[in-house]
Amino acid sequence: MPFQYQKYFTQFGVDEQAIEKERSELSKQFNQKNVSDKDLAWSLFAKLNLEAAKKNNANLLSRIYYSQALFADETRRRNPFDLLQQAAHWKLMEMKELENAGLKYAAKISAFKSCEACKSQDGQIFTIDEALQKMPLPHKECTTQLFNYPGFCRCEYIFERIKEDQSRLTTSNSPRPRPRKVINIALIAIVVLCFACITFGWVLQTFFPIDSAVAIPTSTLSSSVIIPTSTASGTSVDQYMQEYGGNPDVYTKILSLTDCTTLQQEFDQASANLALQSPGTSQYKWSIGYMKASDNRMKQIACY
Ligand SMILES: [Zn+2]
Repeated sequence: MPFQYQKYFTQFGVDEQAIEKERSELSKQFNQKNVSDKDLAWSLFAKLNLEAAKKNNANLLSRIYYSQALFADETRRRNPFDLLQQAAHWKLMEMKELENAGLKYAAKISAFKSCEACKSQDGQIFTIDEALQKMPLPHKECTTQLFNYPGFCRCEYIFERIKEDQSRLTTSNSPRPRPRKVINIALIAIVVLCFACITFGWVLQTFFPIDSAVAIPTSTLSSSVIIPTSTASGTSVDQYMQEYGGNPDVYTKILSLTDCTTLQQEFDQASANLALQSPGTSQYKWSIGYMKASDNRMKQIACY
C-alpha cells in the first residue's frame, strides 16, 4: 500500500525505498507487523530533523519543521504550535548566517490574509536578534484554523536589507532615520575638490601656457579626483573570487554597473538564488558573493 503522507516528504528527497526501509526498521524495533503510516511519518520527520541538525542547515530545518507542523495539524497528532515556532526560529537563524557573512537584515512581519490578532502586528520590524529573543511568530493568540487546531499562524517574516549604521530598529513603525549627513559632507568635499582642480587647470593654462601636446587636460585632472579607484571594502573581482568563488564575469558586470535599480535587481536575483541553495554548498557561497558585490557597489555609488 502506498505511503499516505508522501506529500510531506517529497521536497526532502525521501523516496519510496527510504520509506520502506524505515517501515521495516520500525516494525522490527517495536515487534509489530504493521506500522501505521502516521507513526512512520513521525519517525521519518525525527530522522530528517536529526540529519539537518547535524549539518546545521537552518534553511532545511525550517522547512522540515513547517512540514511537520502541517502533518501534526492534519493528522491530529498534536498541537503544531511548537513546531511552527521551531520553523520560525530556524528561518531567523538562516538570516543570522547571512548577517554573519556581512549582510544585515531586518525581519518584517507580513500578516497577509491572517486573523485579527495576526493583523495587529502586520508590518512590525525587528532586528534578527530581537526577533530571535521575542519570537513574535507564530502569534500566540492566532485563531487561524487550518485543519484541527486553532492557532496555525500563517504570518511570515519578510527580510529587508538594512544599512550597517542602522543597527537599532524598534518594534514601533517609526520612520527610519536616514543618516544622510555623511553622504552630504562627502558630496560637498567632492564638489570643492573638483572646483579646485578645474580652477588649478585654468590657472595653469592661462598663466603658464605650455605646449598643447603635453598639456594636462582639465577633465583628466578633475575626473581623477571624482572617481575613486578603490574603496575600503574589497571590491576587485579577484577579491570576490578568492572569498566567495563563482563567475568572474558576473562580478565584473556588477562592479561596472552605475544604475541603482539594475544593481538592486542583481542583488534580488542573487538573493532569490540563495534561497534555493543549501548552506555550505559552493552555489550558496557564490550567491552570497554576488549579493555582497551588489550591496558594496550600491554603497560605493551612494544608492542608499
Ligand atoms: Zn493568526
